[in-house]
Amino acid sequence: MSDCIFCKIARGEIPSKKVYEDEEIFAFHDINPAAPVHFMIVPKLHIASLMEADPSHQMLLGRILVIAGELARSQGLNEGFRTIINTGRIGGQEVYHLHVHILGGPEPVGPMLQRKAP
Ligand code: AMP
Ligand code: ZN
Repeated sequence: MSDCIFCKIARGEIPSKKVYEDEEIFAFHDINPAAPVHFMIVPKLHIASLMEADPSHQMLLGRILVIAGELARSQGLNEGFRTIINTGRIGGQEVYHLHVHILGGPEPVGPMLQRKAP
């Protein structure tokens, strides 16, 4: 996907604050952080969202979760972090290149979602 912003970031065509890179995975800080530490882990392969994931992506998506803790620790998140994957319109996805948000900081990040009043 030549015009996808996260493909461009993963290719180094758009600058980013890199956290990690290997042959399959790229991680970089969110430009509009929602917590003191907020970065995203993306596959270099363009997968639009979890809706488009298929069994051929199993190893790649598994690797992203397996390295998440190590990358979080590398950013000082030694006591835990929040992991978010937004999918589609209902999930509030803005960028249609699958990405895993990692959020944390010195204080707890707060409730998972604001519950609506009954
Ligand atoms: P989502 O709503 O899960 O699709 O999240 C997309 C995220 O990408 C948002 O948190 C944006 O702040 C972030 N974002 C958009 N453009 C950039 C960029 N050029 N560099 C870093 N983060 C970005
Ligand atoms: Zn892409």
